[in-house]
Amino acid sequence: MEKRETIILGTEEKDIETAAQIICRGGLVAFPTETVYGLGANGLDGEAAAKIYEAKGRPSDNPMIVHISSKNDLMVLTETVTDDMRKLMDAFWPGPMTMVVPARDAVPRVTTGGLSTVAVRMPNHPAALALIEKSGVPIAAPSANTSGRPSPTTGMHVLDDLNGRIDAVIMGEPCQIGIESTVIDMTSDVPMILRPGKLTKEDFSRVLGKKVELDPTLLMRPDLNRQDGSLTETAENFHPKAPGMKYKHYAPKAEMIIFEGEAEKVRMAIAEAKLERTEQGEKVGVILYDDNNPEEAAHDFFAQLRAFDKSGVDVIFASALKEDGVGFAVMNRMFKSAGYHVIEV
Ligand code: AMP
Ligand code: MG
Repeated sequence: MEKRETIILGTEEKDIETAAQIICRGGLVAFPTETVYGLGANGLDGEAAAKIYEAKGRPSDNPMIVHISSKNDLMVLTETVTDDMRKLMDAFWPGPMTMVVPARDAVPRVTTGGLSTVAVRMPNHPAALALIEKSGVPIAAPSANTSGRPSPTTGMHVLDDLNGRIDAVIMGEPCQIGIESTVIDMTSDVPMILRPGKLTKEDFSRVLGKKVELDPTLLMRPDLNRQDGSLTETAENFHPKAPGMKYKHYAPKAEMIIFEGEAEKVRMAIAEAKLERTEQGEKVGVILYDDNNPEEAAHDFFAQLRAFDKSGVDVIFASALKEDGVGFAVMNRMFKSAGYHVIEV
């Protein structure tokens, strides 16, 4: 792909204006949200959206989330806003919730990865909302990383991956949440969570007053990675409903192993493994999270993986978190980062 200069922008009005002009003429702009940084293009322009796949090296069957700046704009993307959709957006937008809904014909199939449904979110971030508003179009934006790498939670992470491959980046504060939005499929009567995030099944159930399901593959642990980056499954049915969930993801350059078990035993096992690898001349990174503070784990996780990569760590040992609340979402990312390499202690 053609190399270009990536313009560094701030969050002032004139910067947002410049960024919006780039979006309107079919260019690519990375921008901060409360979850992770997104790489945006005009979501209604198939040619512009196609450039995102190219810049990221993203498989073209992995659909993108389309971002809007007002709840009413959901109607630009889908014909019928159901009572359940209304309840969820009133409760959680702007915020870290992405709804999968039937797509209007006007939504290019490039944006939806060929599907007849579209994923939509209204982010809770002033720069993101201003950019969408100024552009006057919904903005398709996956995470602003090279495909397969940990998601970016700072503007520097974006530049590390995409400098020279995108037109501009809006540099904001580090992302507040640190992991991606919860994706919930609203196309059938029983809503289903396709990707876990800060908002949980219980949060949605409470607002809807009915049962919400989890995509069963979220509870599976496939092993072995295929050459093409997709995951194989020992159990018969590993067909995640979110196309992106079948790919190897969030991977640091270092080998990564998760230790699971009682806290004290895990600490001991990690200390032992660290000693052994250090004696072999390897550089070891350790991630020990506090079970009582999964929000902090979410905030730090991707940044930590990227920091280890920068310092040339050979192997990362991580303690598993309790899979409660946002801890479930952190562990979903962590299992993928480690290619499902887990040691039970
Ligand atoms: P990211 O691009 O990193 O924000 O990831 C977006 C996630 O949403 C990926 O896992 C996609 O597969 C999923 N997704 C986007 N659109 C759809 C859709 N129409 N149906 C199901 N999953 C979707
Ligand atoms: Mg991503």
